[in-house]
Amino acid sequence: MSNQDWQGKHVTVAGLGVSGIPAARVLNGLGAVVTVVNDGDDERSRAQAAELEAQGITVRLGDGATLPESTELIVTTPGWKPDKPLFAAAAEAGVPVWGDVELAWRLRGHDGREPAPWLAVTGTNGKTTTVRMLASILEAAGLRTAAVGNIGVSLLDAVLGDETYDVLAVELSSYQLHWAPSLRAHSAVVLNLAPDHLDWHGSMEAYVADKGRIYEGNRIACVYNAADKATEDLVRQADVEEGCRAIGFTLGTPGPSQLGVVDGILVDRAFVTNRQKQAQELAEVGDVNPPAPHNIANALAAAALARAFGVEPRAVRDGLRAFRPDAHRIEHVADVAEVAYIDDSKATNTHAAEASLAAYDPIVWIAGGLAKGATFDELVSGAAKRLRGVVLMGRDRALIREALTRHAPEVPVVDLERTDTGAMSEAVREAARLARPGDTVLMAPACASMDMFANYNKRGEAFADAVRALADESA
Ligand code: ADP
Repeated sequence: MSNQDWQGKHVTVAGLGVSGIPAARVLNGLGAVVTVVNDGDDERSRAQAAELEAQGITVRLGDGATLPESTELIVTTPGWKPDKPLFAAAAEAGVPVWGDVELAWRLRGHDGREPAPWLAVTGTNGKTTTVRMLASILEAAGLRTAAVGNIGVSLLDAVLGDETYDVLAVELSSYQLHWAPSLRAHSAVVLNLAPDHLDWHGSMEAYVADKGRIYEGNRIACVYNAADKATEDLVRQADVEEGCRAIGFTLGTPGPSQLGVVDGILVDRAFVTNRQKQAQELAEVGDVNPPAPHNIANALAAAALARAFGVEPRAVRDGLRAFRPDAHRIEHVADVAEVAYIDDSKATNTHAAEASLAAYDPIVWIAGGLAKGATFDELVSGAAKRLRGVVLMGRDRALIREALTRHAPEVPVVDLERTDTGAMSEAVREAARLARPGDTVLMAPACASMDMFANYNKRGEAFADAVRALADESA
């Protein structure tokens, strides 16, 4: 759309908040007639509304259900559930609904600049890590780039800001993909698929279908996880540009058109001249930080997208070496009495916890919190052999305890009832008591944190503080 097309267009922005407010401002700046509708009507939203109204934007608080008259387009906060009455009204009136990603996608190049292609990443777990690894690789190749999405630069800023990019590494959630019908990435990956956010999407099928939208219209490569057939199925179903290739990644030996691992080396058998005979060395497993299996998978996915964009092998290696993981993602906090203490507070679902439990042996596991409807049998039976002991905390800990009784009855379990902020230091002490030299104490709760902590960051900080206190005492 050119700038003129926005002049006088009646746009309704659904939801104040991190994506709604910038969207309203941008659309207003383009000359659209903007109305923001919001369910809540509290002090904070009133203050936000006042700021927007000062710029000539209409804000309707306390009613996010009614479609304002003369609406020609809705731009929604991605978190709004598709079954909201506002969207039913929009469908009836034939009004299109865009999410924040769709808006950013449509605004690319509106100022006449050549738009940067998108290398897009989704999946149940590992999105942020992979996007940041990818940005690090692209930077090592001398490209002007940014990690865009939930962290780092926002999509609208990346598309409209003063900075010029050669290529963007974009993280996309299933919600965002749901509301992004015309997005067409250069290349994209679905890292893995496990049940998550099913209350929002309505079913696993709907969740998977929304994730699969990331492949639609890809030009160069659809990257899938060879160990997760559902991701490969999505590639097969996608309607892509002529010549776009399906590229797999595997922790095993790669076949033709795959990236994988051979004798501790990350190798590429996809972006080489002779796929039958040639394997291009990219990096060593030790270049991946941390070199846990699921993270090597993330590195291979990032490498595949970078190679699809034409990046040289050396830059893959340099970018992976330069990458530092974000806090609370398998973060090594300290060694105390020859026991390693690892903070994986970001493991807020069982699929994520499974990955980090697979990376250590023997483990004293600290787990529990809000289960969000999950079951723990598979997770516990898979890890049972590697568990030295378990410390449970948080509201839904009984669910994990029951799974332990079924699948790991021999493993000692400490069940902490307290839910105050001091509970984490008790958990760490109990874990230290259970651990023997050479063990790993792993806080990978498989649950959300909000029953006891403000968020997973605070939970991770509480763990790290408790470990440091333990280290000081034993020094
Ligand atoms: P996301 O952005 O998808 O939430 P992150 O990169 O922030 O993903 O990682 C979240 C958590 O998921 C990490 O703490 C880690 O335990 C786990 N994780 C990361 N990558 C993977 C993967 N490829 N498969 C399974 N779990 C993973």
